[in-house]
Amino acid sequence: MYKKRGLLIVLSGPSGVGKGTVRKELFTQPNTNYEYSVSMTTRSPREGEVDGEDYFFKTREEFEALIDQGKLLEYAEYVGNYYGTPLDYVNATLDAGRDVFLEIEVVGAAQVRELVPDGLFIFLAPPSLSALETRLIGRGTETEDVIKSRVLKAREELELMNLYDYVVENDEVQNACERINAIVTAEHCRRERVEKIYIQMLEGDC
Ligand code: 5GP
Repeated sequence: MYKKRGLLIVLSGPSGVGKGTVRKELFTQPNTNYEYSVSMTTRSPREGEVDGEDYFFKTREEFEALIDQGKLLEYAEYVGNYYGTPLDYVNATLDAGRDVFLEIEVVGAAQVRELVPDGLFIFLAPPSLSALETRLIGRGTETEDVIKSRVLKAREELELMNLYDYVVENDEVQNACERINAIVTAEHCRRERVEKIYIQMLEGDC
């Protein structure tokens, strides 16, 4: 009988866009029905962070051993520290038919895209990114250098979007969460994802 696998949901986007805030908000909502994958990191805990809840805090040696043993779905070095996603947890949860939610930076997201092409990749974008260039130039208040560096940054961020299936503008945290939940709901109805079940029904298997 066909067993439905969970959906791997990846939320990523440029530094400082508010991925962590959006993710925390999503998981305080009572109707959230996906599981958060707690990442491994070598950075030190911030005040109030709990090992096993916010992150699994590891030494560099421990983290490198996990890499060597193939225990990470992806990993990246970000501002001098390693961050990575535990492979066994993700596989076991997906196999049990539950959706897994990753909130990771863009280098790691690109690795997951290669390994899990049928995952759902959501890019969290800064507000009005698309209008930024026009506005900066039109406004005429910034120096040419400032415009250039902002446009460059906006362009880099826009290019990063290419890897993703959906773009969610983070104008307001609540709005962003609503859009993400709507995308996840719609994604579960995507033909490619459900047709296997129907084919098996037609064949009398379930
Ligand atoms: P922070 O140190 O502020 O908690 O996280 C820094 C960055 O690492 C954020 O962009 C966050 O999304 C990203 N991050 C958190 N966990 C992982 C992970 O498992 N893998 C990757 N590649 N990035 C992660």
